[in-house]
Amino acid sequence: MTTNWNFEATYLELRDMFYHRGPIHPVDTPELVLFNEALAASLGLDAEAVKEDVALLAGNIQTDTSFSEAYAGHQFGHFTMLGDGRALMLGEHVTPNGKRVDVQLKGSGPTEYSRGGDGRAAIGPMVREFLISEAMHSLGIPTNRALSVVKTGEPVMRQRPEQGAVLTRVASSHLRVGTFQYAAAAGSIDDVIALADYAIRRHDPDLANQPNRYEQFLGRVIARQAKLIADWQLVGFIHGVMNTDNTFISGEGLDYGPCAFMDTYHPQTVFSSIDREGRYAYANQPYIGSWNLARLAETLLPLLADTQEVAIDIANRLLNDYTETYKTAYFTGLAHKIGLYVRKEEDDALTDELLRLMMETESDFTNTFRSLTLGEFESLPFASRDDGKAWLSAWQKRLGEQGLPDEDVTRLMRQHNPAVIPRNHHVESAIQAAARGDFAPTEMLLAVLRKPYDYETDHGRYVSPGPPRSYPYQTFCGT
Ligand code: AMP
Ligand code: MG
Repeated sequence: MTTNWNFEATYLELRDMFYHRGPIHPVDTPELVLFNEALAASLGLDAEAVKEDVALLAGNIQTDTSFSEAYAGHQFGHFTMLGDGRALMLGEHVTPNGKRVDVQLKGSGPTEYSRGGDGRAAIGPMVREFLISEAMHSLGIPTNRALSVVKTGEPVMRQRPEQGAVLTRVASSHLRVGTFQYAAAAGSIDDVIALADYAIRRHDPDLANQPNRYEQFLGRVIARQAKLIADWQLVGFIHGVMNTDNTFISGEGLDYGPCAFMDTYHPQTVFSSIDREGRYAYANQPYIGSWNLARLAETLLPLLADTQEVAIDIANRLLNDYTETYKTAYFTGLAHKIGLYVRKEEDDALTDELLRLMMETESDFTNTFRSLTLGEFESLPFASRDDGKAWLSAWQKRLGEQGLPDEDVTRLMRQHNPAVIPRNHHVESAIQAAARGDFAPTEMLLAVLRKPYDYETDHGRYVSPGPPRSYPYQTFCGT
C-alpha cells in the first residue's frame, strides 16, 4: 500500500517555547536533483507523487503541521541557545504501518533561530549529507536519512557564491540532548517532564507507565548512544561535530558535515577544520559520547529521585553502564572483524596489537580488515615485519581454536568488514561534479555505497584509499 504524505504534528502538544511557526521562504525555480526511491518505499510513499510535488520539498508550501524546533547545545564544550536555524519540519509522517517519522527540510530559509545566518544551504554539503547518511544506513548503522535534494535556483554566499539547495531528511525524531538542555535552561522542571514524557512516547512507549520511567529512559538513551559510537569506531568513522545538539535521543546519527571515514589508521585523526584542539578526534569519540550523555543526565536529575544525592548516584551508575555497553559492543565488534564468533577476554590484546601494527605501518583502516577478510595477507603493510608475522600466526592459531569451517569465519568477517566505504576523494569529486550540475558521479557512488558488504562485486577504483596527502583532509560545517 502506498500513500502520499500523512502529516501530523504531535510535537506541537508541547508548550510553545519548544517551537516556532514562522513564514516560509519560497524559492523561484526549484529542481529535484536527488531522490531516495528506497526510502520513499520504506515509508509507504507513492514516490512518483512525492517527486511531482517538488514545491513541497523546496519549502515553497506551508503545511498545517510545519514548525522549527528550539534547542540548546554544548558546541565544542561551550553552552549556547540554538534551534533550527535553517530547518523546517514539514510534519511527522505516519506510514501505512503506523510508524511515525519526522520529515524535515534543511536549507529552506531563515527561522526565529537563525541568529544572523541566511537559513540556506549550499548544494555540496547537502549532497555530502545524502551520500554519508545513505552509506551509514547501508552499513547497518542507525542514522537519519535523506529523501531528496532540490536545487533552489538561487545562489548562497559562502567563501564564494554557491548554488542553493534544500535537503529533505527523515528521522525517527529530531529530539536531541540539546532539546533537554533547552528545556532545563529556558523552562521549569515541568517542561523537562513534559519533554521526557513526549520522548518516551516517541521512542520508548513501553516505559510510559513504569514508576521509574525517567531512569529507564536515560538508561535506554545511554545504551543507544554507546552502541552507535561503537558502530562508528568499528568502521573508522569520525563525526567531527559531536556537540550535544547533534546527539539524538533516538540513537540515530545526524549532521554529516565535517565528517569523514578514516583512511590511514591513527587514533588521533581529526578531519574537521574547526576542531583545532582535536576534541572530536577518532579516539576521543567514545569519551565525548559519555560527556554528552552526562549533560543529558544533568537535565533529568530532578526527575530521577527526591534528593539530589540519590539522583546523582543513579545518573553515575547509568553513565558507568555506558562504558560497559560501549566496551562490550566495541571489543565484540573487533573480535567479529577478525572472524571470532565469541569474544574471549584475551582477544582484546590480539585486536589491540593489530591496531598498534596498523598505526605503526600507517595502514588503511578499511582495507586492512578487507585484506584479512579476503585472505590477501601479503598486501598488508605489516606482513613482512617480524611483529606482523607474529600477529598473523597468533591470529591463525586463535581461529584454529575456534574449530569452525573457513566459510563460517569468512561469512562473519564479510558481515563486519565493509568492502567499500565513502572514500574522501570520491565524496569530494562527486560533490564537485554535483556543484557543476552533474549528478552522475553521485548516483554511481551511491550505488556502490548501498552494498558495502558485497564482496562478490569488483568495486574497482572505489576501494582505493586515494592519492597520498601531504596535508590533512578537511571537511567543513555550517555551510
Ligand atoms: P549545525 O552545524 O548544522 O549543527 O548547526 C548548528 C546551529 O547553527 C544550528 O542551530 C543551525 O540551525 C545553525 N545554522 C547553521 N547554518 C546556518 C545558516 N546558514 N543559517 C542559519 N542558521 C544556521
Ligand atoms: Mg546540527
